[in-house]
Amino acid sequence: MTAVDDARTLLARMTDAPLAGVWSAPGRANLIGEHTDYNEGFVFPFAIAQRTAAALAVRSDDVIRVRSTFADDAVEVSLADLDARIAAGNLDWAGYPLGVAWALLHAAPDAEPRGVDIALASEVPVGAGLSSSAAIEGAVASALNDVWTAGLDKVALARVGRIAENDAVGAPTGIMDQMASMLGVADAATFLDCRTLETRPVALGFAEAGLSILVIDTLVEHAHSTGGYRERRAACERGAAAFGVPALRDVTVDDLPRAAEMLDDVTFRRVRHIVTENQRVLDTVAALDADGPSAIGELLVASHASMRDDFEISVPELDLAVETTLGAGALGARMTGGGFGGAAIALIATGLIPAATEAVRAAFAASGFRTPNIFTVTPSEGARRDV
Ligand code: ADP
Ligand code: MG
Repeated sequence: MTAVDDARTLLARMTDAPLAGVWSAPGRANLIGEHTDYNEGFVFPFAIAQRTAAALAVRSDDVIRVRSTFADDAVEVSLADLDARIAAGNLDWAGYPLGVAWALLHAAPDAEPRGVDIALASEVPVGAGLSSSAAIEGAVASALNDVWTAGLDKVALARVGRIAENDAVGAPTGIMDQMASMLGVADAATFLDCRTLETRPVALGFAEAGLSILVIDTLVEHAHSTGGYRERRAACERGAAAFGVPALRDVTVDDLPRAAEMLDDVTFRRVRHIVTENQRVLDTVAALDADGPSAIGELLVASHASMRDDFEISVPELDLAVETTLGAGALGARMTGGGFGGAAIALIATGLIPAATEAVRAAFAASGFRTPNIFTVTPSEGARRDV
């Protein structure tokens, strides 16, 4: 059963009203460019095949009722109370779909809101650094955009998702995840300039080169709304302020000696991660264009080292996943997502996957770590209407 089927089944249990449609949006893996998004820099994620689906039926009243296969109870709120309920917070998982409804209405004043039942189902692992949050936002935003005739384009819907996540859920994340989920293209990654929101799909050519992306989900849970992520953002803001620029996007590798003089050691290393990571994204896109996917491995490895040593957002499980896959012949590997847990990715010859999987399992067992979830992800299409 796919998420689309599951969402339909759940909706049928909620209501007898006819199906208005099913929309879905994928999770994403970030190939390279970590924590650069909120620094107005560059990222290079791709949408994955695993999706979250939203099945909708129109109601005769003004109530939005959301249910998910993840939770036992439906949550409902009337359109008239939406602003107040969002302001009050404490909506737990329902903050994502209801936050999207709220943000969409503010972004599209001409929309025609009406009560809806929304049933959600997902194939995206939660909290694994593959952005189940952007998937749920993208599915609900795409659905309500059509049902409420809001007329927003994909970039505007990505913005709606980010506003929901920042202001309704309270996770201070950048816009990468939502853009990747909305704009994904099969067999390509999305090069995104987070300042201008300009995007370019760049062909990856993994299959032709006999390569795959292996995900090692460490099952170490991260929580974006808490400490570490905010501290990293604050350090980036201090760095930009020291240079008198709006964002670290405006600082280049050539400026790093001056940064070392101006900043304390911790802030300097945070800045160095962002500045070098931006350059690595540009280098990755150039290497892919020129030489294909086998040319990007070292950039992935350098990205991981920078996150481990300078930005300090890795954990021992992620480091072990990276070291072990590299030892098993991966061309490159790095943690992906916000850090403090979640998943690592490895670019690896498809034929080496069974041996690499065994090696990671054995290494985790030897270290006393939980058995990780290991699977491949395929660059896939972004948000769409399915039914
Ligand atoms: P990630 O995006 O890396 O998976 P987040 O913490 O950003 O992790 O988002 C995960 C949260 O999103 C879940 O804890 C839950 O609140 C919400 N969520 C994601 N998918 C669903 C779903 N299908 N149904 C209900 N809530 C979901
Ligand atoms: Mg998320």
